Amino acid sequence: MGAMNVPFLDLKAQYAQVGEELEREVVAVLASTQYVLGDKVDAFERRFAELCGARFGVAVNSGTSALHLALLSLGIGPGDEVISVSNTFIATISAIDYCGAKPVFVDVNPQTLTMDPRQLESAVTERTRAILPVHLHGLPADMDPIREVAEKHGLRVVEDAAQAHLATYKGRPVGTQSDAACFSFYPGKNLGACGEGGIIVTDSEEIAERARQLRDWGQVKKYHHELKGFNYRMDNVQGAALGVKLKYLSEWTAARQEHARRYSANLQGLPLTLPALPEYAQGVCHVYAIRTSDRDNLQSALTAAGIGTGIHYPIPVHRQKCFEHLQVPAGRLPVTEAAASELLSLPMYAELTDTQIDYVCECIHRHFG
Ligand SMILES: *Cc1c(COP(=O)(O)O)cnc(C)c1O
Repeated sequence: MGAMNVPFLDLKAQYAQVGEELEREVVAVLASTQYVLGDKVDAFERRFAELCGARFGVAVNSGTSALHLALLSLGIGPGDEVISVSNTFIATISAIDYCGAKPVFVDVNPQTLTMDPRQLESAVTERTRAILPVHLHGLPADMDPIREVAEKHGLRVVEDAAQAHLATYKGRPVGTQSDAACFSFYPGKNLGACGEGGIIVTDSEEIAERARQLRDWGQVKKYHHELKGFNYRMDNVQGAALGVKLKYLSEWTAARQEHARRYSANLQGLPLTLPALPEYAQGVCHVYAIRTSDRDNLQSALTAAGIGTGIHYPIPVHRQKCFEHLQVPAGRLPVTEAAASELLSLPMYAELTDTQIDYVCECIHRHFG
């Protein structure tokens, strides 16, 4: 097979499918001059929550804001501890920090790379208030044992579902098996806005009301600020864009899952670890990441072959300079640290073709051959 260009992500391929419809909807919002919150946001919130099987959706201006408001709505604040993982995007931990609470890390399961529930008991202290698992790469964390520990100790659970739109855990969509779940609509996510966006879904009217108030300056009515709030509102243009794209999400997700199966079938028998397929979950393949101790060489070889790759994530959060003060001792999170040096994300988006996937796999075979 000849050389070929396979980008890591190709948003233009998606635009070719939905561009016209997006343009129509977005221009209608421009003409309406209703730019902040509005009818498109309301409709999107309702529809997205419904697809998650949740009673309420509160749309905000990013996934990070969703995490921040979900934690605040649960009453998390200074002096509290929130248990999470370091094998995640920095926003998970920054959201805990924004509340003035202390992030406490447990390691991840070596197969799934999501929160290891067996480590939770020993991380719980007098100050622990919540657990924040991450559905990394679109694969749901093992929620039942996490919830068991939470129930035993009276803790709240918030899901970071930023990468896991419509993923299911034991047959039910993520987002309904905790106090609140937070999604991101950053353009590169499985469901992406034409800009920034996020949402909190919850079955709790109290949490939804609190989050709604906090995203809009803590107002109960205009200029009556009961809580110290934020400007975290979603734009109506993003509500319109998301409303269009949401119609295609299950089709796009099925395509990603099919691509992942093709990669995994083609990559059997090589000295690398393929993404886990735990029987409790149906992931949505936001990222298709393989693991190998030869990661850096393999990445260079793929780059030379015209293939875009990514590393999610090269430096675990507890090793980032900005969280140095948390003073997590070296060797405390060995699975997380090994993953950071071994993970390599291959091209993954709905419009990827079988020919492109086969080319990527052929180049990987050639590297190890
Ligand atoms: C993208 C992401 C976030 C943050 O979402 P933004 O919309 O970029 O603010 C949080 N957590 C994880 C795991 C993410 O991938």
